[in-house]
Amino acid sequence: MTHVHDAVIVGAGFGGMGAAIQLRRMGYDDLLILEREDDLGGTWHVNRYPGLAVDIPSSTYSYSFEPNPHWSRLFAPGAELKAYATHVADKYDLRRHMRFGTVVDGARWDEDTSVWEVTLEDGTVERGRYLLTATGFLSQPRMPDIAGIEEFAGDVVHTTRWDDDVELEGKRIGVIGTGATAVQLIPKLGNVAGHLTVFQRTPIYVSPKIDGKVPGPVRAAFAKVPLTQKAARLAGTSILEVMMVAGVLHYRNMPWANAIGKAACERHLKRQVKDPELRAKLTPDYDFGCKRPTFSNTYYPTFLKPHVDLETTAIDHVDESGIVTTDGRRVDLDVLVLATGFNLWEANFPAIRVVGREGRDLGKWWRDNRFCAYEGITVPKFPNFLSLNSPYSYSGLSYFTTIETQMAHMERLLTAMRERDAEVFEVTEEANDAFLDRMTELLGNSVFSAGSCATARSYYFNQHGEAVLLRPTSTISAHREAARFPIDDYTFRTAKQPLPAAG
Ligand code: NAP
Repeated sequence: MTHVHDAVIVGAGFGGMGAAIQLRRMGYDDLLILEREDDLGGTWHVNRYPGLAVDIPSSTYSYSFEPNPHWSRLFAPGAELKAYATHVADKYDLRRHMRFGTVVDGARWDEDTSVWEVTLEDGTVERGRYLLTATGFLSQPRMPDIAGIEEFAGDVVHTTRWDDDVELEGKRIGVIGTGATAVQLIPKLGNVAGHLTVFQRTPIYVSPKIDGKVPGPVRAAFAKVPLTQKAARLAGTSILEVMMVAGVLHYRNMPWANAIGKAACERHLKRQVKDPELRAKLTPDYDFGCKRPTFSNTYYPTFLKPHVDLETTAIDHVDESGIVTTDGRRVDLDVLVLATGFNLWEANFPAIRVVGREGRDLGKWWRDNRFCAYEGITVPKFPNFLSLNSPYSYSGLSYFTTIETQMAHMERLLTAMRERDAEVFEVTEEANDAFLDRMTELLGNSVFSAGSCATARSYYFNQHGEAVLLRPTSTISAHREAARFPIDDYTFRTAKQPLPAAG
């Protein structure tokens, strides 16, 4: 048999690196991190579209144990996130574990050896005692199912595959989509396009962005007295937490918090767009929070420019020279930008085929039943498997809260393994079912269940109509549970012991 690594981690973004740091802290040094891209950083390596920036304050959007005093702005540009990822990989000596340009085909649990067999696209097999998938929530681009795109004679670019060689200056550019990505990109395109047409299907809530350069003395204070940056982080996290927990997750009990968020966005739109017809087109008809809101001061004003159009008639098809709308009008284009987001529920959960005990196929099982992972991280019949991008795993608004909650769960779980001299863990079906019941009940209070989300077309909802991406608890309670969950929710055994009875 070939070498068995302590762990195989799929994905070298912030999630995979956080997990690797946790494993290294616990003494697991034989790690193999497989990454399909040619460098680390995940979303911050892949995305390079103009205007890319973090839309969570940077002091919050970073590891709490690795603060970066050098962020240039309150909301740092994408390149700084990529540089931060590189810094973390170097400082924590993670690069030597990483193998780039390596596409994972799938993983299968071998019951005889209690080892994960990970098959790569070229047919080779890597083995690991533990398998961790850290493939991101938004890593499988969605190509729109619009007829004729392949007929278009100009350039077609999806935002995740930005091509700097595509000429934009003075061109007739069409953008499909008005999600958070488009909100960052559209003002930049508006500055260079000869003509810009934005095809909007569903408007998005946009709130003012309180951004700005971080002054030198503040950066110096962050570097010299890390406590000052911790305070800034706490402030950022608390604001996001109030928005998320009170306004979105506790909607039924605190509708006023939701109303504050909605009013802030509506005031912003009213202030920036005076034309009632244009304003009506940009106004969402679903509740605040059904879909992820975003922040921008330059998005709405872009539509006031004479060479920018907002098109709200549905697209019928694309042809060689542009887009034809359902009322028969055509918009001729040189460049077509697809800001059409990601395919979470069909292609991302999970992003690779994972087959556990008794041949249980994770993707099929989730789709045929209900999407659930115990505490957003483990699944029954998938021994020694940590699924870092799972239903109910996303906690709060900054991904780093999720990452660090999962690191805490790993610490408790793997410590319990050691204390028992065990080699295999598996969450019980009962614990998973009880967790799902609790999350389902809590979701009843959220805007997703109690609000009006039918027209939002939000990627928070899966194909069963359930909004199971976000964990409907506060981040504090998620973190507390990660550190204190009942250890009996897992079974532990040595590799040679009989497998747990089929449940
Ligand atoms: P998204 O929110 O899913 O938006 C995709 C857009 O494409 C939507 O407006 C959607 O319209 C439209 N669309 C998709 N298929 C279409 C079709 N066939 N015809 C017409 N329109 C179509 O994706 P995203 O903007 O890439 O953002 C995804 C997430 O990435 C964000 O919510 C955020 O979490 C994250 N993000 C973060 C940052 C950051 O700075 N941290 C920046 C950008 C993005 P419908 O709404 O009608 O479906």
